[in-house]
Amino acid sequence: MQYPSQKSAMKKLLGKNVFLENSTAHGRSRQTRYKLASIEQAVQAVSLRMLSSSNSVHQILLKIAQDAAWLLAQENFLPGLESTRDRYFKLLIDRGLASYAEQVRVNPLIEAFKDYYSPELLKLLQGEIREQNNSNWLLRLMRPPKHSQHPLYHLLLIQFLSYSAREFFQLSGELKPFGDGSWPCLNPVCIHFRQPQIQEYTLKRDRSHGRMTATFCCECGFTYARLGPDQSPDDRFRVGKVTAWGQVWEDFLKQLWEDSTVSLEQIANRLSVDRQTVKRQAARLGLTFPRPSPTWKQTQIGETTPPKTDEVNSVQVEAYREEWLEILRQNPDAGRAQLSSQHSRVHSWL
Ligand SMILES: [Zn+2]
Repeated sequence: MQYPSQKSAMKKLLGKNVFLENSTAHGRSRQTRYKLASIEQAVQAVSLRMLSSSNSVHQILLKIAQDAAWLLAQENFLPGLESTRDRYFKLLIDRGLASYAEQVRVNPLIEAFKDYYSPELLKLLQGEIREQNNSNWLLRLMRPPKHSQHPLYHLLLIQFLSYSAREFFQLSGELKPFGDGSWPCLNPVCIHFRQPQIQEYTLKRDRSHGRMTATFCCECGFTYARLGPDQSPDDRFRVGKVTAWGQVWEDFLKQLWEDSTVSLEQIANRLSVDRQTVKRQAARLGLTFPRPSPTWKQTQIGETTPPKTDEVNSVQVEAYREEWLEILRQNPDAGRAQLSSQHSRVHSWL
């Protein structure tokens, strides 16, 4: 410890940063345990070793000293091992050095860490990283904590993450791969479509690729899942996969399916899905196949003559055309005569 004995030396020190120096007083020994040492006896005459503002090692050491001083000045400070680790993960994820599945990208992390702290400095601080050793202190700080680690290791990591101790412990450690709530319903026929209606989501971690999938469910029953993390605010409106269509969506499909004036294409557009999905869901719901067409009602009442073209609503033409094109798509090798006899209702109408 440095105890400048002269007033002039004290003056010199004000506002300056110097290295601490050893005194002759022994901290702990049997002989000196109860012996009081005065400053005059213990402090040796040494020349001050000033810190240079342009020396990066000096600046790193100064930050560690300042962080340690801040920590020692806190009263009743209990940051918690778990929440400290959560903060590390949050900051490492931001830097691309860990995943939301709490998997550390070991080699890039160690490389970046060694870029920041030279091997000589780590040796000086007894914080060398043994890369071959999977339980080196840096990786130990990332594991679910069973017991505490040396405070200096924490201060080294906090500084590496570009934080002071004070700033670091003010951070929230909560991981938010899908941002803050609420989240929108993405069912195009729900009254809450694209409105922040969903208050919470369920998270599932995929061990194989280390990413998280969130599942969002609206009160209309529409449920969608998306692989995270979101990269931009627009991602909130991205459906990864629909896991349940819900009553509102299904009722809408039933209504449109039975409406002979609406084409398959129009149904698909209105429900924001492709035509195959419309058909699959109609089959799942046990709806009429083939779906009611403009001639269906006429057949029911014994009227077989199709109406004249100029009387036909263009929507009906589109519905038949769509149905015929679908028949052609499903039977690429069949001849036209064969198809017209097999599907005479559509063909003769057209
Ligand atoms: Zn909804």
